[in-house]
Amino acid sequence: MEFFDNAIGKAKEAFDIARKKTGEVVNTEKQKFDVSSLKSKRDKHFCALGKIYFELIKDTEELEDETKELVIAIKEKNEKIDALNAEILSAKNKRVCPNCGANIDVNSVYCNSCGVKLVIDSEE
Ligand SMILES: [Zn+2]
Repeated sequence: MEFFDNAIGKAKEAFDIARKKTGEVVNTEKQKFDVSSLKSKRDKHFCALGKIYFELIKDTEELEDETKELVIAIKEKNEKIDALNAEILSAKNKRVCPNCGANIDVNSVYCNSCGVKLVIDSEE
């Protein structure tokens, strides 16, 4: 009986160690997931804050070098994005209203969003 109790005791011990190890692994993985999830959410906040700050300083002449480089880089990307979006729209026979920025048919005479009279390319 003593042998039997010992065997059960050893098995229970091994099981407890295994459970503890598994528990630790699971816990660490969950914590790692939580960290990366929080980092991702925080980075979105950084991005939103950056956009607010960008709007405040984008036309400022005197900026520190690092800030200036980032403002220039963002403006360059915005110009490329606008140019590509214009290409995409013209491929779909659409254009951007110069007044309100709405996507309108390339042959529209008036913007159906803000109503401004549009100059057709051939009239320019
Ligand atoms: Zn418009």
